[in-house]
Amino acid sequence: MLVTRERRAPIKTLRGWAISVLHEAGAIRECDDHGWMQDRADPHARERAFDIARENPPPGVSSKAAAVAIAEELESIGDTCPECPSPD
Ligand SMILES: [Zn+2]
Repeated sequence: MLVTRERRAPIKTLRGWAISVLHEAGAIRECDDHGWMQDRADPHARERAFDIARENPPPGVSSKAAAVAIAEELESIGDTCPECPSPD
């Protein structure tokens, strides 16, 4: 089994792992002012995140469970920062 060590931070939870994968893929970004994660609504970045998840699931987690974790995290992240004023 291929083991890559490209992410420096230790993975404490599956949720934390999912966020790091989404961030790495560019599917979510962090608000510069408030630090909230926002869904960038980029289908290509989402695909990339699912590819990363399936190819490099965390130790002890199946590819399928890893992909589910990504999907659940995407659902829980909004597309705007709750503390930023609305753009219009
Ligand atoms: Zn903000």
